[in-house]
Amino acid sequence: MNQSVQNKLSNVQVDNKLTKDAVDFAVSSGLLLKSRNESGKVVGYKHVPFVLFPTIISKDSLEFLSQIQSDFNTLMHVVVQDQQFLIDSLEGVADEFTQRLLHIFKEVIASERSMPPELAYVRSDYMFDFDPISGTAPPKQIEINTMSVSFGGIGTQKMCDIHKRVLGKANLPDLVLQLPQNPANQKVAEGFVKAWKLYGNPNAAMIFLLGDFETNTYDQRAFEYAINNINPEIKIKGVKFSSLPGRTQLSNDGTFFIDGEEVGLLYFRAAFQPHHYASEEIWKIRKDMEFSRAIKCPSVGQQLFGSKKMQEIFARKGVVEQFVGETAAANIRRTFSGLYSLEMNEEGDSVVKMAIENSQKYVLKPQREGGGNNIYGEDIAKLLREIGNDSRRSAYILMDLINPKPTPNYAICGGTATKEEVVSELGIYGVYLACGDKMLENYAAGHLLRSKPKDQNDGGVATGVAMLDSPLLV
Ligand code: ADP
Ligand code: MG
Ligand code: MG
Repeated sequence: MNQSVQNKLSNVQVDNKLTKDAVDFAVSSGLLLKSRNESGKVVGYKHVPFVLFPTIISKDSLEFLSQIQSDFNTLMHVVVQDQQFLIDSLEGVADEFTQRLLHIFKEVIASERSMPPELAYVRSDYMFDFDPISGTAPPKQIEINTMSVSFGGIGTQKMCDIHKRVLGKANLPDLVLQLPQNPANQKVAEGFVKAWKLYGNPNAAMIFLLGDFETNTYDQRAFEYAINNINPEIKIKGVKFSSLPGRTQLSNDGTFFIDGEEVGLLYFRAAFQPHHYASEEIWKIRKDMEFSRAIKCPSVGQQLFGSKKMQEIFARKGVVEQFVGETAAANIRRTFSGLYSLEMNEEGDSVVKMAIENSQKYVLKPQREGGGNNIYGEDIAKLLREIGNDSRRSAYILMDLINPKPTPNYAICGGTATKEEVVSELGIYGVYLACGDKMLENYAAGHLLRSKPKDQNDGGVATGVAMLDSPLLV
């Protein structure tokens, strides 16, 4: 079945006409990035890189991963509520950025203020670990992103529609039925509208906190339009996170203001990397936000839940089981690959030895987000030797390298097609809304498929390494 579908795709005659038709369709649907020159000035637009054909994904896997997304959401909610667990888990991580965030988290707890509702918009990413002997390829979690997840706006239904168009033009209309609908943008927007209502003041603004030199603007815009499509009265404003000093205010009753305007919901599309915090003033503003009664997506606790260190801790025996029911825990655990701690103890010592001796089998990850931070192969051995027996090593976790099976496709970048062998990463979006212990909403919200040339280790779509894709279910 798989092979016959793959053969059909591989036999398509890819010419300029087919490529141009797909590119026109992409541009017409707003699958665009801003182009910036070296000094950061916007000089035009380009289409988001994508692959010409959808990638075959098992229907059972997509269903299974979508079904367990609400279990991941529950795990996140319960762990963020269990403040001491989060603190104990992260206190020993020798990473200044993590520690500063943790410090804010502790200060909020110490202040004993009542917590506003929590809104989560996350994406759990997986790769299919191919075993050439058994021929199986179970999905293994790469990470869970709890902040600033991207491409829910333009990388989902719009990408499915491009592939519908391409398969139609390629005379493969029967395969169109195997492309699943992907209403991620709509479903996430519904969660945001409900959260904003819960804040309780219809005049309060919803603020999108943006990065500097953003290129993925239309993804954010598509999301904004979906929210306003549900409720046109919500005032949505994009504000650069770096521009906040001097513009914010936290009143005694916990109301947060930007330029004198009350804020009901703060949605972070920035503030997840150390360089986003260029001054002490901006750290103070982040703290004020956490002290405020505005709803944060994510709160600092939710952000910390998404750290690589927490992922390693959940993989330890009995940890997930502590927080969710037996079946949910077993399902979640099925998606874990080998994750190893580099803490300063005997176990950590033996992990270092194992990583140095077999560095090709692992990925070394620091507590960072946004692509391009991981360490592979010989560089792992080099770095670990350099760090030696120093607590700096606890800033990293080690993970088994997942080996997905490459498939042939065409990379469409800058309007032209290049034949490539690609590997794919499937993300499941999740949303929850909670008030204290109570979950008000908890659901999977569509998926994202990204593919990259098989020899590329790391990196996302916006950084120019990966391409948007969509699943073809078998
Ligand atoms: P980030 O938060 O920066 O996105 P990830 O953990 O997702 O960090 O790693 C970035 C990329 O590196 C992933 O998109 C994937 O392509 C690759 N990668 C990460 N972990 C693994 C792994 N265990 N095996 C194979 N590739 C991996
Ligand atoms: Mg990632
Ligand atoms: Mg990430």
